[in-house]
Amino acid sequence: MNTTKKTLTIILSIVLTISLTSSSFAAPSKSLQVHFIDVGQGASQLIISPSGKTMLIDAGNNDQEDDIVAYLTKQKINKIDVLVGTHPDADHIGGLDAVIDNFDIGTIYMPKVQANTETFKDVLLSIQNKSLKVNTAKSGILIDLDKSLTVKMIAPVSTYDESNNMSAVIRISYGSTSFLLTGDAEQESENDIINSKATLKSDVLLVGHHGSNSSTSQKFLNTVNPKYAVIQVGKNSYGHPTDITLKKLSSKKITIYRNDKQGDIIFTSDGKTINVSTEKTSTTTNKPTTDTKKPSTTTKTTTTTNTNVTYKNCSEVKAAGKAPLYKGDPGYSTKLDRDKDGVACE
Ligand SMILES: [Zn+2]
Repeated sequence: MNTTKKTLTIILSIVLTISLTSSSFAAPSKSLQVHFIDVGQGASQLIISPSGKTMLIDAGNNDQEDDIVAYLTKQKINKIDVLVGTHPDADHIGGLDAVIDNFDIGTIYMPKVQANTETFKDVLLSIQNKSLKVNTAKSGILIDLDKSLTVKMIAPVSTYDESNNMSAVIRISYGSTSFLLTGDAEQESENDIINSKATLKSDVLLVGHHGSNSSTSQKFLNTVNPKYAVIQVGKNSYGHPTDITLKKLSSKKITIYRNDKQGDIIFTSDGKTINVSTEKTSTTTNKPTTDTKKPSTTTKTTTTTNTNVTYKNCSEVKAAGKAPLYKGDPGYSTKLDRDKDGVACE
């Protein structure tokens, strides 16, 4: 009896010593990093958790894949614990095949939507070659990345015809700080997220669909109420980001970061405060207020309002592929905006 007890005490004290030692090694001061990688016109976010776990959301276009692989290698990453393809558009999943080919991969999430493109087939082939399986990305999924983080998928809430709306939307919180990563989710998905009552308030918002008018509805922006907004954008012919979106952000005094101006953008959180570092110092980086206001100066806005387009009704707007129209868009009129919320033909 006595010897058993003694042995037990010894074992217990060893266990205690080990756990004390290991907890002192756990370095609680480690931080969460969220990298908005500059992939030109496209999107890619790398999350490095406080304990060193990694999550990659999207990987830019095909022509960016060498750069993405180099970026991850430079971060001394050899495994992506969680890989997310928000939706099958090439500017998001283009580089995923190279990532899958070059790194160990843990769990993969993609929404239940197919695309009949070579890019999409390449990704599926890489997944198949490594005998990996794809988990369906949908709202309600809790991603087990790191004990100290809450990583929750809050969209897609439903199924949508528009592939952008199938985008996986992920909210990450660490201590009192939070990030919302929206893919290309548009207004329809944004509304469903709001109605789902998921927590949306976040310090940092990845502006949906590269700053297009189809995303970042005023209601969504008000609910998220971020301090910082990131626009993943490069040279493009879509007019991304639009003046309307930039104006919405600047009128709420949100500090805007853009990959086309600042290169790679890295947010670091210790659970209480957020720091931002950028690859390039654009002339206005140190003065976020100036930077925020700059894109919506009168020159551009005037051009927009002076454009002479009139639509008789919303069917015309939809046929022209311009719906929804936001206040300030060419062709917007209060007549078309029946609920007077600044968005017509939504
Ligand atoms: Zn996109």
